[in-house]
Amino acid sequence: MSSAQARARMVERQLRRRGIRDERVLEAMGRVPREAFVPAELAGHAYDDAALPIGESQTISQPYIVAAMCELLSLDGTETVLDIGTGSGYAAAVLDELAADVLSIEVVPVLAERARRALEETGHAGVDLRVGDGRLGAADRAPFRAIAAAAATATVPPALYDQLAPGGRLVLPLGGRRGQRLVRLVRTPEGVAETSSIACRFVPLVNG
Ligand code: SAH
Repeated sequence: MSSAQARARMVERQLRRRGIRDERVLEAMGRVPREAFVPAELAGHAYDDAALPIGESQTISQPYIVAAMCELLSLDGTETVLDIGTGSGYAAAVLDELAADVLSIEVVPVLAERARRALEETGHAGVDLRVGDGRLGAADRAPFRAIAAAAATATVPPALYDQLAPGGRLVLPLGGRRGQRLVRLVRTPEGVAETSSIACRFVPLVNG
C-alpha cells in the first residue's frame, strides 16, 4: 500500500468513523506524511492507530488525538496557533495546514532539531520553532486565538490562559498519571468556559 493509500485509510477508519467531522482537519491529515515524523525504522507503522516512540522517552501522538485536538481548536485558517510540545513536529505540520501561522515550543533540544528537519522536508518550514519551556507561552507573539498543548498538567499554566485572545481556545490534557481528559477552555468576557471531551494519556509537561 502506498503512503497516500495508508493515509486515506487512516482518515476514514481512525478519524471519520470515530466522529471527527471537521472537513478541513480530515483533509489536512490526509495530506501530511506522518512517516516523515517517525523514526525511519518505524516508517512501516506510521499510519498505525497508535502513539509511537520518537526517542528521548517521548512519543508522536496517536492520529485520532491530533485530529481531536485540531477539531477542538475550531480553526478557520486565519489564526496564529501556539503549539506546546513540538515532539516529532507532526501536530505542528497539521496545524500549519489549518491555520495562518504556527509557533511551536519544545523543551528537548534534540527533538526540536529533528522536528525542524521533518517540517522542512514536508514543506512546513514556516513553522516558528523554539526551544524552551512551553508553559510560559510566547508573550512576544500573544494574544493567540488558539493554543494546543501536547503534554499533560494537573492545572492550567496561567501564562497560557493569559495569552489567549478574547474568544480564544486552549486545548490541553488535564490530569496526572492516573487519568487525563482532553479539555477545551474558551476565554469569554464572563470568564473561562470549559468543556471536557475524551479521556486521553499524554506524557507530562516537564519543568523546562
Ligand atoms: N505534538 C507532538 C506530541 C509530542 S509529545 C507530536 O505531534 O509529535 C509531548 C512533547 O512535549 C514532548 O516532545 C516533550 O518533550 C514536550 N514537552 C514536555 N514538557 C514541555 C514543556 N514544558 N515545554 C515544551 N515542551 C514540553
